[in-house]
Amino acid sequence: MKILSSHHTMANNKNNTSMRKMLRIASYLKPHWLLFTAGMISLLISSLAGLAFPKLLGDLVSGGKSGIGIHTTGTLLIGILIIQAAFSFLRTILFVNAAEKALATLRQTIYNHLIRLPMHFFLTRRVGELSSRISADVALLQETFTSTSAEFIRQVITVGGGLILLMTISSKLTGFMLAILPIMVIIAGVFGRFIRRFAREVQDQIASSNTVVEETLQGIFSVKAFANEYFEISRYRESTNRAARYGIIAGRYKGALSSFVILGIFGALVAVIWRGAAIGLDNGQLFSFVLYSINIGGSIGGLAEIYTSLQKSVGATENLFQLLDEPAEDITPPETIAPEHQLNGNISFSQISFHYPSREESTVLKDMSFQVSTNQKIAIVGPSGAGKSTVVSLLMRMYNPSGGHILFDSKDSNHIPLTALRSQMAVVPQDVFLFGGTIGENIAYGRQGATEAEIIEAAQKANAWEFIQRFPLGLQTIVGDRGVQLSGGQRQRIAIARAVLKEPRILILDEATSALDAESEKLVQEALDRLMEGRTSIVIAHRLATIRQADKIIVLDRGAIVEEGTHTELVNVNGGLYKNLSEMQFTQ
Ligand code: ATP
Repeated sequence: MKILSSHHTMANNKNNTSMRKMLRIASYLKPHWLLFTAGMISLLISSLAGLAFPKLLGDLVSGGKSGIGIHTTGTLLIGILIIQAAFSFLRTILFVNAAEKALATLRQTIYNHLIRLPMHFFLTRRVGELSSRISADVALLQETFTSTSAEFIRQVITVGGGLILLMTISSKLTGFMLAILPIMVIIAGVFGRFIRRFAREVQDQIASSNTVVEETLQGIFSVKAFANEYFEISRYRESTNRAARYGIIAGRYKGALSSFVILGIFGALVAVIWRGAAIGLDNGQLFSFVLYSINIGGSIGGLAEIYTSLQKSVGATENLFQLLDEPAEDITPPETIAPEHQLNGNISFSQISFHYPSREESTVLKDMSFQVSTNQKIAIVGPSGAGKSTVVSLLMRMYNPSGGHILFDSKDSNHIPLTALRSQMAVVPQDVFLFGGTIGENIAYGRQGATEAEIIEAAQKANAWEFIQRFPLGLQTIVGDRGVQLSGGQRQRIAIARAVLKEPRILILDEATSALDAESEKLVQEALDRLMEGRTSIVIAHRLATIRQADKIIVLDRGAIVEEGTHTELVNVNGGLYKNLSEMQFTQ
């Protein structure tokens, strides 16, 4: 349903007027209105100065402005040029200032929103596409804010003011000129609409070819391991060629538009000079008239371009707002947890059923109920795909169950603020994700602001200190692509150190399926046992040997609990799934 409703909002958004969207994006400029207004005034002054230029130049050609002579006119002209240059510099500086600040806010707003979106949003999106889409769309808006909109205003002034001045020279000739111009404008407008359609297509294609690059570079190991380089090369070739094809079509329309404008303007220019000469205008007047006509013609051509680029920004705005309109999770800044939201560690699943939002038809958990008391250690076992990780996701409220309730100390999970809930749990996952920074930073991810002494203590408790110390740079050792390569067991111990720092009330261990060597395994297990002490722990177990001491073992099969009890109880259930699984493992 969630996905369907987001399609509805998409349709509604499309129906909104472009103007409303532009106004919404302009609201980001509001805090910088002073800069923006100052920029506007500079723009106005430089445009008006530009407007006076052809007139004075005409006067100069006619031998000086009536009554003030050649030299004064010339000096005036230079003065006007200086004013125009100074204010156009000022205008650029002011607009860029306002726009950069507004864009930083916009980028922050988008990221703030994006990172708070619920898991199900990310299930149906590709990360590469999302990130390149956002950067491309924001870049487009940057262009609009810093230059396109100012250009638009300048061109409008040039056209409007130019026409008024033309009238003062010769209304007859202006009327003649006007008879040609509007036709050109209309045709250019129609072209502009075509271009807008293709420009959008080109943008989408470029975003999807960037996705190929990002995904394959992120997954470079898999690409190489499967010897799929040539497959990816051809995938990228197809997608860039497609982008090029659309780009070429868009370019064709763009080219046709400029040719049309050139032909129209030069045709009109010839006609105007011809007509002006026939009417008998003097050299200076004719010179001014031609300059204004060229300016007006150029501006109209420019306006068509600006129109398409503004349309592209509307497209970009649409995408960004669509993202901003997705409902986010209720994440709050971390703060001390209110006493009423502090967990004791009792957990109860009551008749939970669940299916993933992206796969409505397949029920993953069916009517599941179980209880865990404070400081108990429970294990969840079962065949692959039984739903073990899903139980953990629901516990952390990554998704909402489709039926039933999850209770913490007999309080409904939905009544505990999300941040408070998650900050009292820690997960040691199967695949430990390390960020690109140092080992120290990666451990501190468990609790921002931890001191070095605390980090070292956590590393010691996690049996990680010994190997970290052996690196020449210790905690400052860079993890990541070009940094040290950490082994599976080392990564896990870093994840354990993170969890130690977090001091969670509830600990979730997703046991690694990949076998560690006996020594690493002993170190990891030791660290885990230490970590589990005095907390409610839930272990997703793959190796049954590690959970013999569990207070309770829950055996899952195809989304339902099939057995529950201690190891001793369960191995005595004849024909039971646990007995079966353990016999298989221990006889290996
Ligand atoms: P394993 O031991 O292999 O990790 P598991 O018991 O943890 O398996 P889950 O990952 O909870 O199993 O998956 C349970 C079911 O839910 C599977 O059928 C799986 O295909 C499905 N599933 C898991 N994640 C998603 C998802 N993000 N979207 C849709 N279906 C999913």
